[in-house]
Amino acid sequence: MTITLADARIVTPEGVHDGWLTIEDGRISHVGRGTAPGPGHALGGRYVVPGFVDIHNHGGAGGSFPTGDQEQAGRIASLHARHGTTTLVASLVTASLDDLTRATSSLADLCEDGVLAGIHFEGPYISKARCGAHDPALLREPSVREFRRLLAAGRGHVRMLTIAAELPGALDTIRDAAAAGVIAALGHSDAGYEQTIAGIEAGARVATHLYNAMPQLGHRDPGPIAALLEDGRVTVELVNDGVHVHPAMLRLALRTAGPGRTALITDAMAAAGAGDGSYDLGPLKVNVVDGVARLANGDAAGSIAGSTLTMDAAFRRAVRELGLSLSEAAEVTSLTPARVLGLDDRLGSVSAGRQADLVVLTEDLEVAGVMRRGTWITEP
Ligand SMILES: [Zn+2]
Repeated sequence: MTITLADARIVTPEGVHDGWLTIEDGRISHVGRGTAPGPGHALGGRYVVPGFVDIHNHGGAGGSFPTGDQEQAGRIASLHARHGTTTLVASLVTASLDDLTRATSSLADLCEDGVLAGIHFEGPYISKARCGAHDPALLREPSVREFRRLLAAGRGHVRMLTIAAELPGALDTIRDAAAAGVIAALGHSDAGYEQTIAGIEAGARVATHLYNAMPQLGHRDPGPIAALLEDGRVTVELVNDGVHVHPAMLRLALRTAGPGRTALITDAMAAAGAGDGSYDLGPLKVNVVDGVARLANGDAAGSIAGSTLTMDAAFRRAVRELGLSLSEAAEVTSLTPARVLGLDDRLGSVSAGRQADLVVLTEDLEVAGVMRRGTWITEP
């Protein structure tokens, strides 16, 4: 069956043009300009952008990936899909090895089913001084042997490891992760400039939520942020929710790294799409007030604990607050994170041959429809 979408404004890496596209067998088969050659589903001039790719997400709709609960994970994926995220990596927070193993093995089933695009370990190999919303009592020193056991539980679906480069054993673990095809990401780290460079040299290629949970920029002590921004091999994650990072600092990072090395993430937790209240993030309690999630108790009470962001809101903010063009906003919400996952040959742009993962946006950039692998999740 062929689906034709007509009377669209198609957002491509090269710009925005009026046109149409056809979808066959879950893939985009043609993208054309002007009037469609045959009948089709007219979009009334609404925008078509590539489905969003969120590489750092802990939950939503009241569900939390760290529980490993498959029903919750399905609910999270559905919520974010309705907000345009068609490729989703499940992020786990620091937990005991038993809990991590159990959650990983359970979520690997959903990766096999195509619901999730992989699993990200945000802990336990992170800095106590920068652990944010991770339980400090459960942090561990990086160990290649131990990491391999966690990897095995994921049956090939562990895609990313956040690690603090300054910890003993970190550089070996980064090298091992990279060799195993796992993306090593630097973050929740107290590393300085030189230690961060050592982490990149060992194979780290992503900055976990740049600016958050790391030493800040200093003119004589540039710290990790400068090292991560200036290295052309590193993609920086940014949480564009208006809470985690000031828009001026987001613009600064974007001007330095460019859209080609910037991936917007949600870092969403259970309250995304579920409203204010009390929630769990792994073993910790979180209070959400006015959409802002903070740790409820302990030494770090008040620390930001994930977000309630969805990718469509991040897209709108990228255009309105950060001044990106629609093409650039699509790049930082889809193509660049797809490239991080090594999937940019299949995902990340509205062009012939790519998977038919599409978001239809109104003039106001609100989600009017979402298609995943050629099937409407919400029909415009
Ligand atoms: Zn996170």
